[in-house]
Formats: sequence, structure tokens, C-alpha cells
Amino acid sequence: MSLFSAVAMAPRDPILGLNEQYAADPNPQKVNLGVGVYFDDNGKLPLLQCVQAAEKALMDTPTARGYLPIDGIAAYDNAVKALVFGADAEPVTSGRVATVQAIGGTGGLKIGADFLHKLNPNAKVLISDPSWENHRAIFQNAGFEVDTYAYYDAAKRGVNFDGMLQSLRSAAPGTIAVLHACCHNPTGYDITPAQWDQVIEVVKANNLVAFLDMAYQGFGHGIAEDGAVIGKFVAAGLNIFVSTSFSKSFSLYGERVGALSVVANDKEEAARVLSQLKIVIRTNYSNPPTHGGAVVAKVLTTPALRQQWEEELGAMRVRIKAMRQKLVDGLQAAGVQQDMSFMTQQIGMFSYSGLTKEQMLRLRSEFGVYGTDTGRICVAALNSQNVGYVCQAIAKVLQ
Ligand code: PLP
Repeated sequence: MSLFSAVAMAPRDPILGLNEQYAADPNPQKVNLGVGVYFDDNGKLPLLQCVQAAEKALMDTPTARGYLPIDGIAAYDNAVKALVFGADAEPVTSGRVATVQAIGGTGGLKIGADFLHKLNPNAKVLISDPSWENHRAIFQNAGFEVDTYAYYDAAKRGVNFDGMLQSLRSAAPGTIAVLHACCHNPTGYDITPAQWDQVIEVVKANNLVAFLDMAYQGFGHGIAEDGAVIGKFVAAGLNIFVSTSFSKSFSLYGERVGALSVVANDKEEAARVLSQLKIVIRTNYSNPPTHGGAVVAKVLTTPALRQQWEEELGAMRVRIKAMRQKLVDGLQAAGVQQDMSFMTQQIGMFSYSGLTKEQMLRLRSEFGVYGTDTGRICVAALNSQNVGYVCQAIAKVLQ
């Protein structure tokens, strides 16, 4: 008899399971389109120039590694506020935003979820149908009941916006709506600015709590354009939660750099909120790590590095868009009869390809092309060398 006799084997993470399968595949032409990571045109994970320059500058004046404050590096938190809300935006200048450094975007979501659960343990959480798999798990583990709001319309290849509004309209006051600020994962379909206005109206009228997950700022239409949705919520006078991730936009996946920002009504309220966020952090992991936050703060607050970052992120965005076009053209050239141009209307790293589970399994077993069972492929992992092969493979399974 062991203490662990009754411990059940948890299911494998579907994406990490795919990675293992990919690694074990002997096919020399294999392509991994499963994981949500940006690779450059040589298939390499980029180390951004701005990051290298910031690291070099930090190394030039080495600092001892004391504990950070519970809420992280002050310069980092301020830089996040400026990026997410605008440095001169009223909520920032009036001090009514509480921002804490977090362990990636996941950490930002988790801190927010734990804090919200203390505020209102009986609230329901709504995530999009479908959503990033971890949304459900994070909010469930924080103690919430999690349900979905309508989002993807497979037949229409787009957002079921009426359904989305309907779901939000019928949610009880206090319900937490987890919204993808931009570059919806997994579908690649975002709602329009005018549709955001309608969502905000419902959030306000129905007293919902908007939790905006911003994991891909800069991958859609641009840094400011993608962030504009936050300004809309602020203008509506709402108390919102925003999780930020720099994993993709700085290619700093392993450094775990993210944040949570909460917009309160005034400075005094923000101070109380911040004090509670700090309790959540203190009782989970005490305080965040130093390196990633220091690098991102350095880049965001040094004009030349900031400029470099914007250019490098812009190049990533442009390359993904070019790959979408190559995919559509390549599929047509490979003889695919159906109109695949919807892939160029999608935005961000992913494409919901519309392929069935059986077709995705065939792609994997016959061609070594790995996407998720749901038909999601990571366009950011395509490059000039592999896109032709991927098009041929997709064309064959679509025949
Ligand atoms: N939110 C969404 C929608 C994501 O796709 C991801 C990462 O894939 C995250 C949050 C988490 O980001 P991080 O790796 O910074 O924890």
C-alpha cells in the first residue's frame, strides 16, 4: 500500500503529446504545425535582436539577484501599463490600474482567476467555444464552474456573432467572460471593432466581468491596433482584467514573462486590489523571477530598442501573412478545388483549416504534418521550404 496507490494517471496534454509524437517520427520531411510558436523562415526559433541588445546592456552592468517585490519590477509594470493602456491614458495617469508582473500570460490569468474567486466564488466563467485549452483548466482549478459562449461558426467559416451576443446576453450578472483581445486561438477569427462595441454594451448592461486575454498583441494588425480593444472597454467605464503575455511577441517563451492588469474605479481602489493580487502571488510563488522582466522592461523603455522590437514584431506579423497567402496559393496550385481563401482572412498565428479529425490524422501518419485534431495549424511554423510540401499533403487528404 502506497500513499499514491489511488492516484490516477492524468491525460497527457494534447499539444505536448503531439510534440512527442513529432519528435519520434522518422519522416525527414515532417513539419510540426501543432504548437503555438513562431519560427522564422529558416524554421528556427528567433532570438530577437532587441532582446540580445537588452541582455548585453544588462550584462554590462551586472546586478545581484535579490528578491523582486511581490508585484515584480516597477519599471516593468509601468511599461506594461503604458503598452496596454497608453502611457498618457487616464486610467494610468490617475493611478487606477493595478498591474503585477506574472509568470507568462498563463500566470496573469491564474492570478486574476484566484483573485476573482475570492471576490465572487459563485460566479460562472464563460470561455469561447472553442478556446485555448488552458482557459477552462485555469478557471476550473481556481474553483469556478466554466461554460462556453458561442464563437466559431464552422459552416460560415467565421464568428457566430449573433450566437456570441446571445450567450453573453443570457449570462447572469457577475459572470466572468474570458475574451481573446486579438488573434483568437485556436480559430484565427476575430470580431470587428464595431462588434466589440456591441460586446461591450452587453458586458455593461448585463454587469459581466470582462477578462481580456492578450497573448498575441502585435500579431494581428499592429501593436496599437491590436491593443485598441482595451481602450474601448476603458472608455465604457468598465472594471476589466487584462492578462498580457510576451512569450510570443518577444520570442521569450521560456522566460515566462507576462502580467495582469486590473482597472479599478480610482487610485485608492486600485491600491486595495493590488494588495489582494499580492496576497495571491505571495501564497503561490512569493515573487516573480528577475531576468525576463528586466529584458522586456529594458526594451520597452529604451527608445532605440523599442523601435527595434516594433520592427522585429512587425516582420513576424508580415511573414505570417505572407505564409497564409502562400498556403492559399499553394493549395490551389496543388489542385484543391474548394476556396481556401478564408485562411487569409484569419489573423494571428493560427488557422482553423476546416480539416476533419480523420484528415488531420492522415496528415500526421502519411505525411508527417502535425496539426491538432481540431484542424488547427500554426501558420507561424510554415516557411518557404516546408509550405509547398504542406500544401501537397493537405491537397492529398482533401481529395
Ligand atoms: N492565452 C492564450 C490565448 C494563448 O494562446 C497562450 C499561449 O499559447 C497563453 C495565454 C499563455 O501564454 P504564456 O505562454 O505566456 O503563458
